[in-house]
Amino acid sequence: MIVDGHTDVIWALARERRKFSEESEIGHVDLPRLRKGNVIAAFFAVFPARSDFDIYRGVDYWFSLLEQEENQLKQVKSIEDLEKCKNENKIGAVLHFEGSGGIDSEFLSLRNYYRLGLRSIGLSWSNLNRFATGVTFNMLTGESYNQDRGLTETGKELVNELNKIGIIVDVSHLNERSFWDVIEQTNKPIIASHSNAYSICNHPRNLKDEQIKAIAETNGTIGINFCASFLSSEKKKDQIQLEDIRKHIDYIVKLVGINHVSFGSDYDGAIVPDIIKDVSHFPILVESLEKNGYDNKDLDKIKSENFMRVMKEVWK
Ligand SMILES: [Zn+2]
Repeated sequence: MIVDGHTDVIWALARERRKFSEESEIGHVDLPRLRKGNVIAAFFAVFPARSDFDIYRGVDYWFSLLEQEENQLKQVKSIEDLEKCKNENKIGAVLHFEGSGGIDSEFLSLRNYYRLGLRSIGLSWSNLNRFATGVTFNMLTGESYNQDRGLTETGKELVNELNKIGIIVDVSHLNERSFWDVIEQTNKPIIASHSNAYSICNHPRNLKDEQIKAIAETNGTIGINFCASFLSSEKKKDQIQLEDIRKHIDYIVKLVGINHVSFGSDYDGAIVPDIIKDVSHFPILVESLEKNGYDNKDLDKIKSENFMRVMKEVWK
């Protein structure tokens, strides 16, 4: 059973006219395809763009999904909730904010979102806010900003607060300066929920070797992202093979061992290779890892246990 560290299905459903409970031809994620993919739980991203209004809307949509019985979702706020999903035949849903745009600097809203079940947060979605600085994504935002800017003083306090209340810090989408500021500040494991190895594909959203080592030193994990342009700088989505995804996994395992790599598909948020074109295709990738030297113990770590270890340590 797989724990997927990043899905943008909330964003996609709000945009596309399809139902979570019904299998669709469009998009990447829905209940029947999660079942086929052997996914037991996923981090469901609410995309906060810039304002608190985006969070209100995203969280409202999230609860409306959870409340519909036919969606067979169970909110995961603790490791026990996750373990119950199997017995109750539910898909676990972890509430994640992909950015801290709508959080106030006294963390009042943050603590309230924790009470609503927020358990993971990215400090910036590739932009600049009162806490952190994102990795520049010029083609999307048209912006460029000072990459010497990292976490602000309030951003450092935010990391302390997240550690204290028990919300996982996600460093995907941060610039390098912010990344190293997080490393200096955190006393809990961190995740890069959906990023790959820069040495294999030199995209600015991927992680350099020193960053991979630093995440491992916190006892955190990295979710392998299926976004075609983060997997390969040469091959297009119809050319990428399972081997190209394996390369990132093999590389991270060789660098820091088996305990720090997971899946963070980015389904419904990225252009993905044809060969794993939606979430029902997870088993093909797992099978390919199995054929290439990963035993069951290794596979369990990649599929779910590495994320579960971080949950246990951060959520208390
Ligand atoms: Zn993302």
